[in-house]
Amino acid sequence: MHITTNNEWFEATVSAINIESPTVKTLTFTAPYPIHNKAGQHFELRLTAENGYQAARLYSAVRAGSGEKTLQLTIMDTLNGEVSPYVTESLRIGDKVEIRGPFGNFFVWTPDEKRPVLLIGGGSGVVPMHAIFSAHQDSASTAKMHLLYSSRTFDDILYKDEFLDNKDVTITLTKDAPSDWQGKSGRINQAMVEEIVTEFPEKPLCYVCGMTKFVDAMTEALQANGITPDLIKTERFG
Ligand SMILES: Cc1cc2nc3c(=O)[nH]c(=O)nc-3n(C[C@H](O)[C@H](O)[C@H](O)COP(=O)(O)OP(=O)(O)OC[C@H]3O[C@@H](n4cnc5c(N)ncnc54)[C@H](O)[C@@H]3O)c2cc1C
Repeated sequence: MHITTNNEWFEATVSAINIESPTVKTLTFTAPYPIHNKAGQHFELRLTAENGYQAARLYSAVRAGSGEKTLQLTIMDTLNGEVSPYVTESLRIGDKVEIRGPFGNFFVWTPDEKRPVLLIGGGSGVVPMHAIFSAHQDSASTAKMHLLYSSRTFDDILYKDEFLDNKDVTITLTKDAPSDWQGKSGRINQAMVEEIVTEFPEKPLCYVCGMTKFVDAMTEALQANGITPDLIKTERFG
């Protein structure tokens, strides 16, 4: 049996491509070895050009892995980016990239966590939240978990099948909301956080992920609601 270390690059083959939104795709990669990763961890994906030039970026796993030979990554096409436009626009089924990981032992959730959890994700920052949310659903955990998700528009919402009409998920649209939108509108603010925090039986453990500005604003809103820094885990995407 081959035991991988997380520093070892492996060849991963694209086996499925799912369109999540106009700018985001979920790619399924087939790996040569079983993948084990905790919910919230990320992997590094490396591209090599014909002239040997290499570029690598970090991407969160869509779900926890317990030995499957597949890995799913949800990747947003970043305007003028070096790696993400190629991955989302040019990769086809059968193409190969290199991947290594998992990395990150702090921004993780495992079912032995007894404290209730509030997840706050902005844009593609919802990817590790999906991993944590689905790991919680698949576990026997009875601890409350709620996701507060900030998306620009309805079309930009990721994982619609799982997150829309889910009582454990609150979605707010920051740009355009359809006229029949039943969720929240506007950026997440202190009052919106308060509304959700007060529904918890005790102060929740909080996971916040997104761009730096978003993470900073959410951390401030949580602290204004009495959540102490030791209860806040953050991951910054850029
Ligand atoms: C731990 C970790 C996990 C991550 N997980 C994911 C994930 O699951 N899905 C995902 O799509 N991305 C994720 N990212 C972001 C990812 O690593 C890249 O930064 C992103 O894909 C942009 O890379 P690029 O090469 O396309 O753009 P670059 O060439 O690196 O940057 C191009 C321009 O875009 C800006 N930029 C960089 N990142 C972003 C961003 N995320 N959004 C908007 N503008 C940006 C830069 O400031 C720069 O001006 C994660 C980052 C970290 C640190």
